[in-house]
Amino acid sequence: MRVFNFSAGPAALPESVLTQAAAEMLDWRGTGMSVMEMSHRGKEFMGIAAKAEADLRTLLAIPDDYSVLLLQGGAIAENAIVPMNLLGRKTSADYVNTGEWSKKSIKEARKYCAVRIAASSEDTNFTSVPALGTWQLDRNAAYVHICTNETIGGIEYQWTPETGEVPLVADMSSHILSRVVNVSKYGVIYGGAQKNVGPAGLTLVIVRNDLLDRALPITPSAFHWKEQAAADSMVNTPPTYAIYIAGLVFEWLQTQGGVKAIEKKNIAKAALLYDYLDTTEFYRAPARKIDRSRMNVVFHLSDESLDSEFLVGAKAAGMDQLKGHRAVGGMRASIYNAMPFEGVRTLVDYMKQFEQMYG
Ligand code: PMP
Repeated sequence: MRVFNFSAGPAALPESVLTQAAAEMLDWRGTGMSVMEMSHRGKEFMGIAAKAEADLRTLLAIPDDYSVLLLQGGAIAENAIVPMNLLGRKTSADYVNTGEWSKKSIKEARKYCAVRIAASSEDTNFTSVPALGTWQLDRNAAYVHICTNETIGGIEYQWTPETGEVPLVADMSSHILSRVVNVSKYGVIYGGAQKNVGPAGLTLVIVRNDLLDRALPITPSAFHWKEQAAADSMVNTPPTYAIYIAGLVFEWLQTQGGVKAIEKKNIAKAALLYDYLDTTEFYRAPARKIDRSRMNVVFHLSDESLDSEFLVGAKAAGMDQLKGHRAVGGMRASIYNAMPFEGVRTLVDYMKQFEQMYG
């Protein structure tokens, strides 16, 4: 029996995608082999990858002057790959620090350049996104880096910063495809796949083509965006099976009505949970209301001694992986695209019952 899986990632995938992958496991469409067993340069897999890229372009309305790269390495690797590809002759980059994932990006970038912290929400214990008016941007920075959804802290940009001539780079790992984005506002968008896109092992990079000339000579070929763009992401063997599953997820998203339609559902799911959290003191949600993440709902039981009781009861009721990240404690309900409304309703009903029992 499948559970409602609230994992932050690797996370739940649409059941129909898993069913289709299972049906196609041994023999992909008459080829007599699994996608896992195919050459990445064969026409079957090239077709799978091209379709996945085309569908992603449609879903996100990616303009033609952007390259889409399907790479290995994950978002933590991109934290190093971004400065290597974008520094050119510049020696510094601006970073906005909104929490654990920003901090990891900053730590890595410091190995390659001077990092200026243009803004930080550390003073609110990373429960908010700093207002653009407080950002101190450097016009000579190679780029401005933000994390648009902090998976651990549960805060999300509900707006797009304007950074003028300096390219805006965003780690969108944990909310890409959950909401409409205006890609043209960004120089680079990247993210690991294992939340809203597919299995771990695939990394998406969406990069404006005029930024492809800035890579440092030390950039490894596998992580060199220009080389990868020229080679259709096949400088090295791409994560073939993960790309295939991502392609099925993109097709599923289209059957859901696309990103705009899924965003509406995501708004409704998040509202159901936050609206309840706002009515009770038994639980508390630390994120500032206007910056609350629709994807990762962080909350605490006011009496933390009840935490393990809460988790055991949730599991018995068919809900798993609600434990918060060790950096912030408490609970976290990750409600990505594949989490049905029913899953969130089941959680809220359980939370109410638990409150009645212990409150
Ligand atoms: N950035 C964000 C916002 C994340 O949520 C994660 C993973 N949880 C990462 C980066 C790191 O991804 P990976 O482990 O795939 O490198």
